[in-house]
Amino acid sequence: MAISVWEQATYFAPKDVVIIGCGFVGLWTAYELIKKNPQLQITILERGTIPSGASTRNAGFSCFGSVSELIYDVQLMGEANMLETVKMRYQGLQKIQKIFGKADIDYDQFGGYELFEENGPYDISKLDEDIAYLNKVLAPALQTPKKNGKYLPIYSNETKKIKQLGFQNIKALAFSPFEGQLNSAKLVLALQKEIQAKGVQILFNTEVKKFSSHKKGVTLHTNLEAPIETQQLLICTNGFAQQLVPSLDVVPARGQVFITEPIPNLKFKGTFHFDEGFYYFRNVGKRLLLGGARNKDFKKEKTYSLETSKNIQKHLEDFMMKRILPKGSKKPKIELRWSGTMGMGKIKKPIIEALQPHVFCAVRMSGMGVAIAPIVAEKAVQLMGR
Ligand SMILES: Cc1cc2nc3c(=O)[nH]c(=O)nc-3n(C[C@H](O)[C@H](O)[C@H](O)COP(=O)(O)OP(=O)(O)OC[C@H]3O[C@@H](n4cnc5c(N)ncnc54)[C@H](O)[C@@H]3O)c2cc1C
Repeated sequence: MAISVWEQATYFAPKDVVIIGCGFVGLWTAYELIKKNPQLQITILERGTIPSGASTRNAGFSCFGSVSELIYDVQLMGEANMLETVKMRYQGLQKIQKIFGKADIDYDQFGGYELFEENGPYDISKLDEDIAYLNKVLAPALQTPKKNGKYLPIYSNETKKIKQLGFQNIKALAFSPFEGQLNSAKLVLALQKEIQAKGVQILFNTEVKKFSSHKKGVTLHTNLEAPIETQQLLICTNGFAQQLVPSLDVVPARGQVFITEPIPNLKFKGTFHFDEGFYYFRNVGKRLLLGGARNKDFKKEKTYSLETSKNIQKHLEDFMMKRILPKGSKKPKIELRWSGTMGMGKIKKPIIEALQPHVFCAVRMSGMGVAIAPIVAEKAVQLMGR
């Protein structure tokens, strides 16, 4: 099919910025770009009929890291990198709440917990010491609200609450009042609405096959009828980054999830982490959403496939019955099972870089992209000189 003269002057007209990927990072970057430069011609190219990576398929934790995760991150990438990444997530969390009303995105701040087992990978005898260390370095860096002239602590030891919450085989519990939860697809749709109202074009079912930069910009080849020219290109394809730029340190990691039928006597509200974040669960009303267990088969979960696997789903079901629900509970019906694609690398810091003339990327959200995306977007816009 040949394109028409009208299409040539609109859909296929040269752009100032093309963004690949209509997930949180692509959307927030378009949001920032158009806010700062209302005259810009911006197009987002998304290969799915709806966003098809992680942004509408995650657990909706608006989180910045649990105690054991952050202690592990200090070992993995040093204190400075940990602080910088957590600061970005925390600032992003504030920004989401500032821009979107609670009702628009089903935002609730019930707080976030981390559960610890006895003799697990984390030594619970260090919990108070680790909480004190994280509060000391993080509270001033994040500038949490002050009480009596002191920053409010980020984490506290709430082991005494275990019984009340009904968990089994859990020995210690840490809590942060600052963590929230939301409906991620509602946030995607709210962002889409904002940017489209300001003239940003989104083309779904449009897969970028390849691109090449030249003196004046970049030419993109897609499954559409004509190439698209742009002055600048930003790649926001996270877990899929290597499909377009094989040299990037980002590999796919499948995250699997399920949600149960309503459980009338569900004893908790909030977001919960276990095993350095490899397991996570929350309430969605009276339903339980549970995900993770990727560490039970790293090799098979390093995939672009969006199927779910019997093995991981079984680990999740066992976890639900042996840890989360009170002993003797009836097994609830699982209403939905699904998966999404995360982007992981050697360290957990996002890659926000210029790759070649006119070409930039903002990828590798390391399984925690909800809260960090608005700040990744700000940095990407700065890098692009807009
Ligand atoms: C099961 C699961 C649970 C999670 N839970 C949480 C959570 O509770 N809290 C949290 O903070 N994070 C969570 N995450 C991670 C979070 O969802 C991601 O970090 C975040 O959504 C990444 O956003 P993104 O925009 O970088 O990437 P994505 O949302 O993956 O967007 C990338 C987009 O690029 C598109 N694309 C790829 N290649 C091309 C191409 N060649 N042409 C056109 N389009 C292309 C894809 O279709 C996709 O829509 C979870 C992830 C999963 C999978």
